[in-house]
Amino acid sequence: MPDVTQEQVLEALKAVTDPDRGGNIVDLDMLQGLTVKDGKVSFAIEVDPARGPELEGLRQAAEDAAKSVPGVKAVAAILTAERPAPQLMPDNQAEFTKMELPTIQSVVAVASGKGGVGKSTTAVNLALALAADGKSVGIIDADIYGPSIPRMLGITEQPVQSESGQIVPLTAHGIECMSMGFMVDEATPIIWRGPMATGALEQLFSDVEWGELDVLVVDMPPGTGDIHLTLSQRIPLSGVVIVSTPQDIALADARKGLNMFRKVDVPVFGIVENMSYFLCPDNGKRYYIFGQDGAKREAENLEVDFLGEVPLDTRIRETSDEGQPIVATDPGNEHSETYRAIAAKVWDKIAAQI
Ligand code: ADP
Repeated sequence: MPDVTQEQVLEALKAVTDPDRGGNIVDLDMLQGLTVKDGKVSFAIEVDPARGPELEGLRQAAEDAAKSVPGVKAVAAILTAERPAPQLMPDNQAEFTKMELPTIQSVVAVASGKGGVGKSTTAVNLALALAADGKSVGIIDADIYGPSIPRMLGITEQPVQSESGQIVPLTAHGIECMSMGFMVDEATPIIWRGPMATGALEQLFSDVEWGELDVLVVDMPPGTGDIHLTLSQRIPLSGVVIVSTPQDIALADARKGLNMFRKVDVPVFGIVENMSYFLCPDNGKRYYIFGQDGAKREAENLEVDFLGEVPLDTRIRETSDEGQPIVATDPGNEHSETYRAIAAKVWDKIAAQI
């Protein structure tokens, strides 16, 4: 059977109307984070939180519509509260108390302006590269729309609770991992209201039995929203690494994200350019499909460091899809060296603060 496409699912979802607003959920722009992969479909429907409880029918209808597309094997549809534009902190920012994380030396966020630029791939390989350099490392998957870190690390089990009631993180390739995906039971739809999502994020720091960590890497959701704000207000962040592809449009989004972190006083460690060029497996030549040095120039304009460039290469995709990230499983590979060089720059910046 041919693979199901995003367009087919979108077409089917156009049949689902919001009874109160009188239009279909696609045209009303209520869909968030639609992903279609190997017959598995997931998406969120953004709703006014006040209407949340009445909308289980709408959610169910959307799930059924997606399931009706031939080839779809499983559908996960969740309701989420409409995301308000993040409120930047007024003058009383200093009053926000940061959580104490006694066993964690530093926290580094990996963020991007938009989805699909390779943020999670970069976060995983950066975490593994720090571990390869002898650091003790954990990773939090904070992407509520598409938690993918456990899959990239080849984790299939769920975490368990220790006797003290804390959650025990899972370990893979030598690093500890927790994911927002573990906090929801896939069979039970939940409404990620802003406070719920941010509450769950805080729990990933406070209620997890992290060991003594040199670095905790946080894979953020794309864009800017509640989660970003909570993180910058409540967590003692050492800094943020921004991932972008070289196209102008991706860079424009990256710039927005970067400015948000600057406004809330989180140090921007720099920009990683992902999918910089296509490395042709037949002749080893580099093809700059999206133009050359886009992110490097942007980093110069924005006066932040350029941390490195990672090409578009099937080895990177295959290894992360298989749960065998390249830095862990093929350390001699040139891309693994690139990730380690990026990690070394990031560590220098962390160390300067410790
Ligand atoms: P994001 O977290 O920004 O949504 P992901 O890290 O999930 O993006 O990457 C999206 C897809 O692109 C994944 O299938 C991943 O394997 C692939 N990918 C990411 N970076 C590269 C790269 N440098 N070369 C090839 N494929 C990549």
